[in-house]
Amino acid sequence: MKLKTFALGGVHPEEHKLSANAPITLLPLPAQLIVPLGQNLGAPPKPLVKKGDEVKTGQLIARGEAFISANLHSPATGKVLKVDDAPDASGYRRPAVFIDVSGEDEWAEGINNTDELITRLDFSREEIINKVKEAGIVGLGGATFPTHVKLMLPPGKKADYLLINGVECEPYLTSDHRMMLEKAQEIMQGIRLMMIALDVKKAIIGVENNKPDAIAHLAAMALSHPGISVQALYVKYPQGGEKQLIKALVNREVPSGKLPIEVGCVVSNVGTAFAVYEAVTKNKPLIERVVTITGLELARPSNFMVRIGTPIAKLIEAAGGLPEGTGKIINGGPMMGKAMTNPEVPIIKGSSGILIMPGKLSSRKHPQPCIRCSKCTTVCPMGLEPFLLAKLSKLERYEDTEKEQIMDCIECGSCQYTCPSSLPLLDYLRLGKFRTGQMIRNRK
Ligand code: SF4
Ligand code: SF4
Repeated sequence: MKLKTFALGGVHPEEHKLSANAPITLLPLPAQLIVPLGQNLGAPPKPLVKKGDEVKTGQLIARGEAFISANLHSPATGKVLKVDDAPDASGYRRPAVFIDVSGEDEWAEGINNTDELITRLDFSREEIINKVKEAGIVGLGGATFPTHVKLMLPPGKKADYLLINGVECEPYLTSDHRMMLEKAQEIMQGIRLMMIALDVKKAIIGVENNKPDAIAHLAAMALSHPGISVQALYVKYPQGGEKQLIKALVNREVPSGKLPIEVGCVVSNVGTAFAVYEAVTKNKPLIERVVTITGLELARPSNFMVRIGTPIAKLIEAAGGLPEGTGKIINGGPMMGKAMTNPEVPIIKGSSGILIMPGKLSSRKHPQPCIRCSKCTTVCPMGLEPFLLAKLSKLERYEDTEKEQIMDCIECGSCQYTCPSSLPLLDYLRLGKFRTGQMIRNRK
């Protein structure tokens, strides 16, 4: 198979897929779950439960009322302890439902929680979209955009391709890799259901060629699924970015500030395809996901099936405990993840991995003055000038950051990774993007 990739920029971080051969295992339920309301991009759902309420596994506990929002369900059976603020991975306190877990699951009515493969496809597009909406499915690649909204194409728009992201370009993460090996049949069914909802005839699964087993497995399976193909990609970060994947797979360029549908594409992740399959064929809401926990000094790098709301400390414990000399616990991968201060914060729908970084690798080098080498510009996959944007952001010149298209930055960190002066470019870019976004919204 001829390999493809995106054209502009990109880097090749050292790879440490330590948990690639660790099969997905079920993490036991903790005694208490903390289920934040705001787990989706858009408005948080409104809580439907209060202190003292008994809840069943999969029961709706918060309804997404805004157009861009997502329902939330109880990840276990138990009693609501309180609805109160709890710290999230960034350290902010946000509303959450605290659930004391009673032990065994008692599933809410109508949910099929068996492993049987259901190959039914006789659903209308409205049925699929409604079931995905009811189940609270969001993009599991990290973006957490509500999937039912993605499946409802804007008036006048037509999709030519459904592109499935099996890239997993973050150098340590393996949850999607394991899903592609262990849940391929379900992923194929989920893709076919999304194809019906979008009325597209072609779906392409993009997988980097550092996962040859997943490519071979999916390609063999695709032979019995009309319209679905698998494309092997060169290993290059950040190929999992929506715009980079579209360029790599179908050679189309999404214009600045526009969505993939402008070029006839809808992009979804392999984990999301699995969740769509479960929602449509089994009425199963999104109450669990696969999470990688890894690190060079961790005793057992693993891929766990984890209930939403489980404290991250439980994953660390199950992977052999926090190694001595740990420097940072990172929520996500080394390129885009953020350091956390509190391991008691919960796994949420968008959590794909936890990285335990040894102290000797986690301290930042002292920044030196910019030497104008332009390496950051060369590697930027969005064609931006990171050194300029970082400088403007530092100077709080947000009219200028807007003109220089800071909102196109996908926060991939390639610029910072390559900077020989160790400048904290990504920190300034994130701050500048946040402030520029605020300014644009206020103007509207
Ligand atoms: S973080 Fe932003 S500016 Fe830096 S390389 Fe990525 S897209 Fe470009
Ligand atoms: S890579 Fe670093 S040193 Fe080189 S131009 Fe960019 S900010 Fe300056």
